[in-house]
Amino acid sequence: MKTVIIAEKPSQGRDIAGAIENRTMRKDGYLEGDKYIITWAVGHLLQLKEPGEIDQKYQKWNLANLPIKIDEKNIIGNYKPNANTTSQLKAIEQILKRDDIDTLINATDPDREGELIFQNIYSYFKVNKPVKRLIIKDLTPDGIKEQFASLELGEKYEGLKMSAYGRALSDYIIGLNMTRAYSCKYRGGGVLSVGRVQTPTLKLIYDRCKENAGHKKKIEYGIKGKIIGTDIELELDKYRVGKKDEAEKKILSLPKKVNIISTKEDKKKSPPKLPTILDVQKLANNFWSYKADSTLSIVQSLYEKHKAVSYPRTDCNYITQNTADKLNSRIDNFSKFKGYKHITSKKINEQVMGEVEAHEGITPTGIIPQGLSEQESNIYTLVVAIFLANYCDDYKYRSIKYEGIIDKKNILKGNEKELIDLGYLKAYKDTNHTYKEIIPDGEYNIEYEIKEIESKPKPLFTQATLLEKMKNIHNEEEGEIKEKLKEIKGIGTGATRGAIIGTLYKREYIKDQKKAIVITDKGKQIIEILQSESSKLLDVGYTADLEYRLDAIIKDKAIFNSFLEDINSMCVEMLNVLKGNRNEVRFTGIEKNRSEYICPVCSKPVLIGEMKYYCSGYKDGCKYAILKKVGKKNLTANQLKTLITKGKTGFIRGFINHENKKFDGYLVYNKELMRLEFSFK
Ligand SMILES: [Zn+2]
Repeated sequence: MKTVIIAEKPSQGRDIAGAIENRTMRKDGYLEGDKYIITWAVGHLLQLKEPGEIDQKYQKWNLANLPIKIDEKNIIGNYKPNANTTSQLKAIEQILKRDDIDTLINATDPDREGELIFQNIYSYFKVNKPVKRLIIKDLTPDGIKEQFASLELGEKYEGLKMSAYGRALSDYIIGLNMTRAYSCKYRGGGVLSVGRVQTPTLKLIYDRCKENAGHKKKIEYGIKGKIIGTDIELELDKYRVGKKDEAEKKILSLPKKVNIISTKEDKKKSPPKLPTILDVQKLANNFWSYKADSTLSIVQSLYEKHKAVSYPRTDCNYITQNTADKLNSRIDNFSKFKGYKHITSKKINEQVMGEVEAHEGITPTGIIPQGLSEQESNIYTLVVAIFLANYCDDYKYRSIKYEGIIDKKNILKGNEKELIDLGYLKAYKDTNHTYKEIIPDGEYNIEYEIKEIESKPKPLFTQATLLEKMKNIHNEEEGEIKEKLKEIKGIGTGATRGAIIGTLYKREYIKDQKKAIVITDKGKQIIEILQSESSKLLDVGYTADLEYRLDAIIKDKAIFNSFLEDINSMCVEMLNVLKGNRNEVRFTGIEKNRSEYICPVCSKPVLIGEMKYYCSGYKDGCKYAILKKVGKKNLTANQLKTLITKGKTGFIRGFINHENKKFDGYLVYNKELMRLEFSFK
């Protein structure tokens, strides 16, 4: 009997096969060895059906038909094969039908989405065989072998499975219902998408842009005191006035000579923690302006293609003792890296070990990759630099506080640093660390100067600061919500935040203004509509609550049912508010060219272009388009209508082919190949 292994992707399947089977036969869609048959998904092989496929009446985007409901008793019945990957699904079906199979190993990525990929295949084919779970931490042969030695029971992940379905179905129910509802009610904006995480994120951007634009510049004046003959500057403590001449008068009253005393304290700073995906995304945005979603795919490629870094979709800063030992044994592999010559130990800093939840902090694996692109190389070097910094000493300096007491109310204060040891900073970054001279205590001549202090608005978000905000959103809240938000680590997850921001760009809700993210008119309008309805979707407390409950399902799958019930009734509630809202907003300037038709491929509205009708979902990859002129013949409005709504025209005479010959026939849209074809039957 053989064991079937299902990996998340082809490359991972090959890596696993290479590590556990000496020889495998390459078959169509899988590899077969003596003990194992190794196959793979290609992302999600199954996807949720379009609403029109669940029930015909949902075909039309119509407010009266909402809410869309799904069958919660038969979850898998709501799924269909993904049209782009049916051949791989068939290959897996053939394997699962074999009678020389006794066990399955789920080797997809060890997270909610990975679990869903496997479980959908398992349920779709009604498999009834024992499952074991392989938790992959890195894709090196040693790593895979080691993880194979500690396979877990599949049942242990039942809760994760139900949580994955909870996430998928609730996003589907909220997203589809509310997106359709707003798109139907408010015209002129094309698709008005709203969702569980994207909408509160958009609200963050809305608030920040509003606050930033509404900021009124205010100038205040303070007083600087320069110690003559040195480059040390002190400041008159707690002194701020609104008028310049008042500060000028104040200067005249201050003594020219002041007794300066200093207090010194030795301090140290530890190397940076091992990065989470969020940390890498923030640093990459600060250094090279990379967008969060592209950083994620760069790190993913370093993990998957180059085997150079550990599993990247992590929210954890720590590694286990076991991983630390492994990395210590490979430290010399990094001898060619800049930071290596600065390491002071061959044992990684204790601070990197801590409580590990699902995944560990990102580290290099020890395999030194070749042929990296410039972006990959930048990110890889960054991961290695942080890693090597953790083999270095702390950065040590002496903090010096100067104080010149004129009288009880007037004190000059200043802070300087004296270098003791740069420590890990040598390995971590090239910065010019300049330190001012240190002066002994005593009486010094002071030269006073007015200092202008301009109040600054909170800066607009960049990708880096927005990611940070999404994670640390609890800082703005109070009480129970604060605790919940903190526990679930903000809105979205390390694996999804980049994509959520990406969606907001695609929907034209936000755009770039140099390095900053600003909201568009369309984005503003949708938020203001939601505000007029006091929509729960704007409430981070609500999002937090849903995420919190998804987490709770992992521990207790029984609460899945009540979770979905609540989602459904919440949708009904929001739809009622929306239907009763007399708000008259018209979106302007966007997609004025919306036709009356719905895309037969993805059910989004069809737009009218100069040469063609095309799907408004083109930014999501829907390629549906119908040329207005085919075979040198302009199609009539009626012919176009039949073609878009029925998929086939009536008999049309008078097309002209490439050889300038006339011919007659039908036009048919081929959904599989996503193209228009002639038919003669
Ligand atoms: Zn479409």
